[in-house]
Amino acid sequence: MDEREFFDEKQEKKTANLNCPHCHQAAEYEITWLVRTKKRNLPGRADERDRARFAKARSYMLRKDDMMACKNLRCRKRFEISGVQSVAFTD
Ligand SMILES: [Zn+2]
Repeated sequence: MDEREFFDEKQEKKTANLNCPHCHQAAEYEITWLVRTKKRNLPGRADERDRARFAKARSYMLRKDDMMACKNLRCRKRFEISGVQSVAFTD
């Protein structure tokens, strides 16, 4: 059974304060996350192994965005998101 079947999936936007490494200006950016919330119950066809994996599974979110475009109009360079973790557990 695929791990994805353990979770309900949705996209969420969260704001983060980021510093552009080119112009060093800080601004608020909306980062898209994929939120995977653990289901209450496993689908019926799960076997023993699936149940063991499901028991250990935790809700988490994955950062989808890697790059942001600087909001400073005189800069507008793209930069990599750093300082924001790419995976976070939510329970
Ligand atoms: Zn910049």
